[in-house]
Amino acid sequence: MNKIKATIFEIQRNSYVDGPGIRTTIFFKGCNLKCKWCHNPESQVFSRQMMHYKTKCTGCGQCRQICQNTSGSCVFCGQCIIQCPNEARQICGKEYTVQEVFEQIIKDKIFYEASGGGVTFSGGECMLQADFLEEILKMCKEAGIHTAVDTAGNVPWESFEKILPYTDMFLYDIKAVSENLHIEGTSVSNKTILSNLKQLSDNGKAEIVIRIPIIPDFNTHTGEIRKIADFLQGIRYKNIELLPYHKMGQYKYEALNMHFNNYPDLDKGIIESYKKIF
Ligand code: SF4
Ligand code: SF4
Repeated sequence: MNKIKATIFEIQRNSYVDGPGIRTTIFFKGCNLKCKWCHNPESQVFSRQMMHYKTKCTGCGQCRQICQNTSGSCVFCGQCIIQCPNEARQICGKEYTVQEVFEQIIKDKIFYEASGGGVTFSGGECMLQADFLEEILKMCKEAGIHTAVDTAGNVPWESFEKILPYTDMFLYDIKAVSENLHIEGTSVSNKTILSNLKQLSDNGKAEIVIRIPIIPDFNTHTGEIRKIADFLQGIRYKNIELLPYHKMGQYKYEALNMHFNNYPDLDKGIIESYKKIF
């Protein structure tokens, strides 16, 4: 039996936004980009984390009283969560084997078949755990389930080669094509990302859906969207999704004690004007 494990922070059933039809989306922990607008900050580090929802907490102190850990770093025993009367604490991330994840996915096979759906692997960056991903994709394909991988693409091309035989669709994020702008927003260069997308396009095996987050004061200036559109002229893709910036993840930054970058609200009309460019 395969013993590879991955740390996953959410298994979302009945998802309609991560590929065609009804889907189950598996969110892996760990990413090698640091997007300033990330709405899933709990996806950024690979290890488990304790989340503390300050708006629910009354400061009763029962969690501190019950905690037996003297080392200073949480061992995720879960005692404080049981003790808290206000559900103000939560462990984010759990280790799963390939078989355990598959058992969750297969539950909704009937809905995938009825709706043209399937499973989507997301994150974080699920491709940073390529061995696990290869195994679970293989199992899903053998079970006749449509497979999609949601990626930022900042991994060696060899990781794509590993999973290509078992992947029907890539949801491929493009944040910016101007390298300096990309570094400013995500902390990494986009050279590998753009080169992998070109190779994926030339390879021709899997469908590609391009996803572009529209972030005010980041890629809405200096003609960046038009530059992305120009770059995509050389790429084979099925369609493009424009993802408007939102602030729904703000409460998770507070729960993790992380700094939240408050971008301006998006002018909704701008999405329509960008659609015309594409
Ligand atoms: S999970 Fe356990 S070790 Fe961590 S803070 Fe709570 S009681 Fe302490
Ligand atoms: S037990 Fe819950 S409500 Fe009380 S201090 Fe801890 S987190 Fe806050």
